[in-house]
Amino acid sequence: MKKQKVAIVGGGILGRLLALTLIERREDKLELSLFDKNIESGFGSCSFTAAGMLAPFAELEKAETEVFKLGFESLSLWPLILKKWCCDVFYRNSGTLVVAHTQEQQDLDLLSSKMRKYENYSSEIQPLTSSDIQNLEPDLSKKFQRGLYICHEAHLDVRALLPSLSQALSAYRNVHQNFGIYVDDVQAGKILLGNQWVDFDWVFDCRGLGAQGALHGLRGVRGEIMKVRAPEVLLNRPIRLLHPRYPLYVVPLENQEYILGATLIESESTDNISVQSVLELLSAAYSIHSGFAEAQVLEFSAQLRPAFSDHCPRVIVEDQKFLRINGLYRHGYLVSPALCEKVVSIFCEVK
Ligand SMILES: Cc1cc2nc3c(=O)[nH]c(=O)nc-3n(C[C@H](O)[C@H](O)[C@H](O)COP(=O)(O)OP(=O)(O)OC[C@H]3O[C@@H](n4cnc5c(N)ncnc54)[C@H](O)[C@@H]3O)c2cc1C
Repeated sequence: MKKQKVAIVGGGILGRLLALTLIERREDKLELSLFDKNIESGFGSCSFTAAGMLAPFAELEKAETEVFKLGFESLSLWPLILKKWCCDVFYRNSGTLVVAHTQEQQDLDLLSSKMRKYENYSSEIQPLTSSDIQNLEPDLSKKFQRGLYICHEAHLDVRALLPSLSQALSAYRNVHQNFGIYVDDVQAGKILLGNQWVDFDWVFDCRGLGAQGALHGLRGVRGEIMKVRAPEVLLNRPIRLLHPRYPLYVVPLENQEYILGATLIESESTDNISVQSVLELLSAAYSIHSGFAEAQVLEFSAQLRPAFSDHCPRVIVEDQKFLRINGLYRHGYLVSPALCEKVVSIFCEVK
């Protein structure tokens, strides 16, 4: 039987995971080509800059129900994905600790009331006193009087994950990965490479902000993070500090490395991180643990998150066999597994 030719344009988290999900279900029926203008590590993509938090409840501070649902479903898919394809990638499901300074306690109550609307609330969320916080994270500043512990949230190392997904794809003979290849246009049944149209049965546009010209209302929302090595800090799980102006998360990785993030700026500037953002991130980090003063700065990064006005991801069926998936905003890792399942079910319905 003739195999269906599939093109996935864009190899960020979404494109790579979609490629694996599709090929796993339909290995004998597909010839799949993945294209990305960047290199295999993912450097230069939004996915490369992410902090890797898988936090559907904590994100309810700003996110919509749809993101929560996709994220909650994805939370149970991630361990299966990692086991199948990326078992060496750092992943931890030790939950999230949310705290606020005394004058911002109402923000904790607000988040708690948003989370309470969801049925899993009572099994997932524990209100904490200051001694509970100390038991959970003994190294954290003692000034936090109350907090919330979200038990089953997780985080992973995105820098290890992206090449690992690519490695997993290279094990399939009928997958062709094309890194360093710019795709000039994407249409139903074909993609433009240089001045040559190449035909495909199926086309999936996963270009993130690269699809801005084709998707009305898609915009970039700037985010900046820092990576530090902090030998004097021992935190076991992501800590989120709620603050009306200077919110912060600290995400622990291996080797005493921490990601401090992230700014959320309505700008499409791709300039380097600003001094103001550095000052804000570091001051907030210092306020949760004074040991960050001794940390070594490893990296600053800035990227644009692809977003629609409602900040929800969209699967747009342009044609029966031409789909655009975009607008993952600050939730690409959180929602991709469930979103890929949704796309694969659309794929399987078409004869
Ligand atoms: C600072 C920061 C922190 C974040 N933290 C988190 C987090 O903790 N958890 C979470 O879930 N999400 C987080 N995110 C959001 C997440 O990174 C994005 O939602 C996600 O990366 C979007 O993935 P994507 O695959 O849709 O797009 P991208 O990662 O942008 O991938 C699109 C790909 O398409 C390629 N491309 C574009 N145009 C072309 C073309 N013409 N030809 C060929 N290739 C092309 C690009 O090279 C790129 O690799 C964060 C984002 C930022 C900026």
